[in-house]
Amino acid sequence: MAEQTQPHSLPSDQYRKREFAVKVVRGLRDAGHQALWAGGCVRDLLIGLTPSDYDVATDAPPERVMQLFRRTVPVGVSFGVVKVIGPRGAGEVEVATFRSDGAYIDGRRPETVVFSSPEQDASRRDFTINGMFFDPISEDVIDFVGGRHDLETGLLRAIGDPASRFAEDKLRLVRAVRFAARFGLRIEPETEKALVAMASEVTVVAAERIAQELRRMLVHPSRSAAMRLMMEFGLATVIVPELLSLVGVPSQVASRPDHDCWEQTLAVLDALPHDPSVGLALAALFHDIGRGTDGSSAVEALDRASDRLKLANVERETASWLVAHHGILNSPRSMPVARLKRLLAEPGIHELLALHRAVAEAADLPVDHVEYCEHYVKEKPDGPIRPEPFVNGNDLKRLGLTPGPSFKQWLDRAYDAQLEGRVTNQDEAIAWLCRQLEPEKPASS
Ligand code: ATP
Ligand code: MG
Repeated sequence: MAEQTQPHSLPSDQYRKREFAVKVVRGLRDAGHQALWAGGCVRDLLIGLTPSDYDVATDAPPERVMQLFRRTVPVGVSFGVVKVIGPRGAGEVEVATFRSDGAYIDGRRPETVVFSSPEQDASRRDFTINGMFFDPISEDVIDFVGGRHDLETGLLRAIGDPASRFAEDKLRLVRAVRFAARFGLRIEPETEKALVAMASEVTVVAAERIAQELRRMLVHPSRSAAMRLMMEFGLATVIVPELLSLVGVPSQVASRPDHDCWEQTLAVLDALPHDPSVGLALAALFHDIGRGTDGSSAVEALDRASDRLKLANVERETASWLVAHHGILNSPRSMPVARLKRLLAEPGIHELLALHRAVAEAADLPVDHVEYCEHYVKEKPDGPIRPEPFVNGNDLKRLGLTPGPSFKQWLDRAYDAQLEGRVTNQDEAIAWLCRQLEPEKPASS
């Protein structure tokens, strides 16, 4: 059978996903309906990428889809979208009824949808490369919008009149950048003209939707190309205006005298690991803001952007911690050992080291500081990085200290002495404390 020609080269979960997506199409066809793969998965297959998920478009209305398959979730019945859940490892397939969108409210979402034909369903999609169908049984591509030709010639083109399509849903302005960057496409001139003219209007779109596109740009290896386009088209000006302060400021990177801080930030984005978390990518994007002032403004800028974009707590906290600590491990050999160990024991240390590595690599500087820390974390050359403390609060009380502000300081000092190897067991730690406490005791007890 035709669909079995490719799958054997796929890892098993991807094979199962594909098989299940074929099965859903067969199920609909056997019940007398039209059914095709649609959108992003068709584009990915034509490029030779393995689709991350499969969408099916059909003439069956949502109620019918829910009757035909055992495990379904109505994700947007008014839009005709039903999720069909596959067996373990096969993921889920979104089945959507062919539709045309009615008038749009406020450049954000259609007021009504009308179930329609494949051709009309193609024309409501955003870009030609995203507007194709594929018949997985016959292996035919069904292309009403010229997507295949645009993909072959490397063009991102809005379906229909670009200005009206962007006006309908202004999130498409950001999506244009994401897809152009991700697939290395040029933007077709009329599409680009409309994009530049309308960029500032993207603010009508819900922050959550914009943030979701931004995340997808930042975690993808094409992140620097995406951010470059965001800046070039004026989208950064309204979505992340904080970044504008990097433009035109000399980077002072010796190997790149031509780079301003923005270009250097883009180079850091490129030097990140292949698959960074959103927090790490955001940290790379913001880390150099306000350099040379009081050092706190990168964190403040990130806070402002996180509020505006309604980022998740874990994203903003990760990014903020990384930005606040970037550069701190540039000379680990000359740091007090206790301070170094405390940092190396932080849960975010691997990402902090990844950021240090990216910053150094982008500036063609050595990365031995990063390797030193990585080695330390892995090999623990002088014992555990976060050992159980020899001294606790009860010990301090027994020594006559009463809980109060100085209590924690003493615990910290005792732990520092332990981390630095000045005391090597509990008895030594207590003896050390007694010596230190002698002059203090009258005041503290
Ligand atoms: P990805 O692999 O990044 O998920 P995708 O093409 O699947 O890419 P989605 O955002 O998942 O992108 O959307 C699926 C499909 O739905 C798109 O390919 C496109 O045809 C259509 N689509 C999504 N968002 C819009 C939109 N805002 N306007 C018009 N069509 C859209
Ligand atoms: Mg998708």
